[in-house]
Amino acid sequence: MDSDPSSIPAAHAGSPDETAALYDQFVGRNYASPALTLTHGEGSYVWDSQKRRYLDFSTGIAVNALGHAHPHWVRRVSEQAAKLTHVSNLYRNEPQGRLAAALAGHAGPGRVIFCNSGAEANESLLKLARLHGLRKSGTEGACIGVVVAEKAFHGRTFGGMSATPQEKIQKGFRPLLSGFTAAPLNDLAAWDRAMDAKTTAAVLVETIQGEGGVNPATPEFLIGLEKLCRERNILFMIDEIQCGIGRTGKFYAFEYAGVHPDAIAMAKGLGGGFPMGAIWMSAPHAELFQAGSHGTTFGGGALAATAALAVLEVIEQEKLLARVTAQTPAWHQALRQLVTLRPDLVQEIRGMGYMTGVILKVDSVPVVAALREAGLLAVPAGGIAVRLLPPLTASVKELDESVAILRQVLAGWKVA
Ligand SMILES: *Cc1c(COP(=O)(O)O)cnc(C)c1O
Repeated sequence: MDSDPSSIPAAHAGSPDETAALYDQFVGRNYASPALTLTHGEGSYVWDSQKRRYLDFSTGIAVNALGHAHPHWVRRVSEQAAKLTHVSNLYRNEPQGRLAAALAGHAGPGRVIFCNSGAEANESLLKLARLHGLRKSGTEGACIGVVVAEKAFHGRTFGGMSATPQEKIQKGFRPLLSGFTAAPLNDLAAWDRAMDAKTTAAVLVETIQGEGGVNPATPEFLIGLEKLCRERNILFMIDEIQCGIGRTGKFYAFEYAGVHPDAIAMAKGLGGGFPMGAIWMSAPHAELFQAGSHGTTFGGGALAATAALAVLEVIEQEKLLARVTAQTPAWHQALRQLVTLRPDLVQEIRGMGYMTGVILKVDSVPVVAALREAGLLAVPAGGIAVRLLPPLTASVKELDESVAILRQVLAGWKVA
């Protein structure tokens, strides 16, 4: 390869076709061809290379918790970038310590391990489950079972795929890790049957399934699951990667059920746009990881930890949990009128807070494309859900605007 940087083709702002051409030729084909080139954002809005503006309720898939370019986040990240970006975990950095304390402050006595993505956070949980199974059985490999939910999504690594019982995710990559069993979400009797006191090390469940179609776990189910885990010495592990960090109006979504997991995975919204993941482990289980058990070069770096601290600071300063909680009922009420408007097309509104699905009776992919053309970015999920993931900073006016665009697009929608 020619390493002369001048030979790298430059994509110039305002030449969208050139970016599309570079993607066509050089970017891996594992994503369906993206429809837009986005160039900049501010608050709840984002602009494309044709200077069109969109209300961004896709938020980089629940990542941009503060919207785009939040001034406090930008200032904190810029200042830290100029001060100290990365030192590895061979040394301490101040932001990591403060962030671990803050995340544990929301979860309870315990410890936090950092990483760089959701899938990696779940890998850490799965390693914790193996260590717990070893402690429980005394024999490596004897207690490795993990029960997961049907339609779950836990990531694209080998561990993540193994925990994701979906043909479209697993196809082509088998054999995967063994020991995983899937049971229907909210069917406690089925989980009871699947959870073996001897061979099951852990359960792993999303409080609200995101990719699976915005399917909330009921409080009764989570409470029952916690009880079964306690009775059988099975780790109760919750994947809050998409629904956590304030998205539902609680810092962790499972707080709605009043349960106390043994371990929590988080990522997406945590860094407010900076790649960042973490797990929290309750105090006794946290000691399963000792020096040498697990590690990461980048995880918890000074810049990433500062980005996450900036998210937590803004959640606090702008009282975003209270705001999401206060603004959700009227938004959901307005969204429910879409069912009245088009009962032939819209089934129901599902979800909690700013993780909401407009559940259709038809394929949601073309509807999401039409919404984009009308100026609203949403994310399809589970085949029939239009997933709305506003930034936690969204105003009432912006929530209303999302409903207006949905009304306009759905009112004229022709069911094939
Ligand atoms: C997105 C997601 C993941 C995977 O996160 P990546 O950062 O894409 O690896 C895992 N679990 C849930 C619930 C998710 O929404």
